[in-house]
Amino acid sequence: MTILATQQLVDFAYILAIALFILSLKWLSSPATARHGVLAGEIGAAVALVTTFFNPELVEFKWIFVGLLAGVIIGIPLGLVPITAVPQRTAMSHAFGALAASLIGISEYYVQTPHITKFGMIEIAMEVIIGSLSVTGSLIAAGKLQEILPQRPIVYKGQNIVSLTVLGSAVILALVLMFNPGLTVLFPIMVAVSLFFGFLLVMPIGGADMPTVISLLNSYVGLSAALLGFVLNSRVLVVAGALDGSSGFILSVIMCKAMNRSFTNVLFGAFGQLQVSAEKGKEERTVRSASPEEAAQIIGSSNSVIVVPGYGMAVAQAQHKVREMFDILTKKGIDMRFAIHPVAGRMPGHMNVLLAEADIPYDKLIDMETANSEMAQTDVALIIGANDVTNPAAKTDEGSPIYGMPIIEVDKARTAMVIKRSLNPGFAGIDNPLYYMEKTLMLFGDAKKFVSDVVHELSGGGGL
Ligand code: NDP
Repeated sequence: MTILATQQLVDFAYILAIALFILSLKWLSSPATARHGVLAGEIGAAVALVTTFFNPELVEFKWIFVGLLAGVIIGIPLGLVPITAVPQRTAMSHAFGALAASLIGISEYYVQTPHITKFGMIEIAMEVIIGSLSVTGSLIAAGKLQEILPQRPIVYKGQNIVSLTVLGSAVILALVLMFNPGLTVLFPIMVAVSLFFGFLLVMPIGGADMPTVISLLNSYVGLSAALLGFVLNSRVLVVAGALDGSSGFILSVIMCKAMNRSFTNVLFGAFGQLQVSAEKGKEERTVRSASPEEAAQIIGSSNSVIVVPGYGMAVAQAQHKVREMFDILTKKGIDMRFAIHPVAGRMPGHMNVLLAEADIPYDKLIDMETANSEMAQTDVALIIGANDVTNPAAKTDEGSPIYGMPIIEVDKARTAMVIKRSLNPGFAGIDNPLYYMEKTLMLFGDAKKFVSDVVHELSGGGGL
């Protein structure tokens, strides 16, 4: 086959990969088609990868295999982490993606210098700045999520000025390099300054804002990959990077809305000004608790139940038992639906994934707005391992780190039942006044075990 024919085939395969990436995103936007979306994305990535080996421009395979081997060695254990560790795993994936993009950009600089054009230099500099800050930013985010680093915001006076000065220095170095690309000594300094900026960007961010940060870093890494596509003249990389960058950006905006955070603050890492008011509400207060038998009696005699799943349901892997409860209640003519908070769990769509795994019909999932508008007419709000997303302090306590975040207003239901193991706080580390309300019943225990016991009672096992 001639080089021209091979090149045409390569171009065709890349277009196919691009089409699959676009379809993947389209399908991923609905739970009903999400599985197709994952498959299309995987096939697209495989097509793009295999095609690259046939690219006539490729002359050296040795280092690609070294890279592949390193990726496999690191990727297998990363892929095997439990679902509860997926956010930090995602942050690590972003760090590796950004590292790859930065390293290629760095090597391109040394390969192309001194014959690099002004435009080429600025492309590389932007790519390397964004890539490098995403490396350290993602590593810090992973460290915070894994609780190796403190989750609380690390803030100090004049922090924004320091951060902007550091970022400004990287940009000035990039501009100097644009006019004098031969000043090779400046390039590593620019990389180091950008790495430092990534650290400054994420350290002031508190745990409660991590979901937004993760999706924003995703967007930065996509942007860096798209810029690398321009540097390498690779259309598939430009498109894949742009899709990644823009979808991450859209997700960040959605998350900001869901958490009522200012997008500008998130963009510039200027959050975390609010200090955790965990010490508040530590005075002795009493809660009402109930056994599985009592809970089953109340649930079994209700007309409507809205389940609010949260991170604890994922930890306990209670979704299949919840499905059994759904089947029993549906048979009894009790309306049971699932209210999904956009940041419930530890990754966007976490609850949707779990409920889909248990084959809960999609039309039984309702969004936060619908749930809140119907809560006052609901007999039982059953909270399974959720905490922050139901915390009324988000509406009433201005000092709370989650103040302003929209919540699922379970306190409006006739009865609120909370399945969790203790009164311990959730991710944001704050007490939940819901637990001390008159209408709240605490159902202490592991979510899977507790739901299982309730199911046993509901199905007549306890002699009901
Ligand atoms: P929370 O983290 O607020 O609360 C989870 C609760 O689950 C805990 O209070 C814990 O209480 C309980 N729990 C843990 N294990 C079990 C178990 N085996 N059985 C029963 N209960 C259990 O979760 P939410 O889903 O309400 O809120 C999500 C939080 O995570 C928000 O603050 C959000 O900002 C943050 N976040 C979200 C991300 C996302 O993308 N969705 C990413 C990163 C953070 P106990 O120990 O007493 O059992």
